[in-house]
Amino acid sequence: MTCSHAFCTIIPPFVLDKMARSSRPEVAENAREAQEISDAVRIERGARAVARGATGEGTAAERKVYDSEQTRRQRVTRARFEDDPERADVDVNVVFEHAGTVRAYLTEALERDSIDAAGMDLVLNVHYGKKYSNAFWDGDEMTFGDGDGEIFTSFARSLDVTAHEIFHGVTQYLNGLVYRSQPGALNEHFSDVFGSVITQVANGQTAHDADWLIGNEIMGPDLPGEALRSMKAPGTAYDNDIMGADPQPAHMGDYYDGNEDNQGVHINSGIPNRAFYLVATDIGADAAARIWYAAFQGLDSRADFDAAALALADAAGTLTREGRAPVGSTQSVRAAFREVGVLG
Ligand SMILES: [Zn+2]
Repeated sequence: MTCSHAFCTIIPPFVLDKMARSSRPEVAENAREAQEISDAVRIERGARAVARGATGEGTAAERKVYDSEQTRRQRVTRARFEDDPERADVDVNVVFEHAGTVRAYLTEALERDSIDAAGMDLVLNVHYGKKYSNAFWDGDEMTFGDGDGEIFTSFARSLDVTAHEIFHGVTQYLNGLVYRSQPGALNEHFSDVFGSVITQVANGQTAHDADWLIGNEIMGPDLPGEALRSMKAPGTAYDNDIMGADPQPAHMGDYYDGNEDNQGVHINSGIPNRAFYLVATDIGADAAARIWYAAFQGLDSRADFDAAALALADAAGTLTREGRAPVGSTQSVRAAFREVGVLG
């Protein structure tokens, strides 16, 4: 099972739905265009899933940044490849650097050779579409829009967005968590965990002084201070006329069991997100990230929150015995999941 029919965007569909109904015509039009692109890419993606192999070309993962030149096509012109010098285009250089940061984290912290653990190249497309308000992983590469400049700024300039999307690729090869319901929320959660942790490492922050926000860097001048998600306080990331209000629960008591958003993949991820925050602030983000990566390696593609919590407690025990997580990690994991209503 792979993520091949999972088209993983950073802006959840319910935010675009809300924006598409905006009284501001340009906002509504921009959101409708992003929705239309989501539908078109999903269909196209299905058709070429078999045609283009997604495995690595050697063991040394190279960065390949392409410029879509405002078209809806990928790999249009070579913008910056691994050994190319810096370019004039800020988006190209920033996404190139961020992809390098994520690659280094995979190698050094997780001892994983790129997305597929076999040196897969990191292909990144910038300037996709006209003012396209989204970024996505489509099964084999990352693609970023420029945003409209008012609600959202360039998606290519945010490290947590880039790390989040690259980790959808990691999940695809690691356990293939199905992009629906609880396994889908765990898939989203895993991307948020590493989007956040890699940003903390890059900024030299600890779990205590990190902001724990996802997508705050892509908010434009119309939405100062807002974010897409808060791992620390799910449900508080945004509340405004343009996006609506953040629907994320922080506890199983508020679990969303509707059909929207692939049965709440970007909604119920708030529950394990909060658990990760609790563990990271207790034992440190580095140890927490090691535990999460180890546990998720063994997850079934249809794992639910209970299965993930049990696997995390097991992994915490193993890593504690190996001296790679502090004593008390198992109890910390268990306490965190009890606090969000998953265990016990
Ligand atoms: Zn995602």
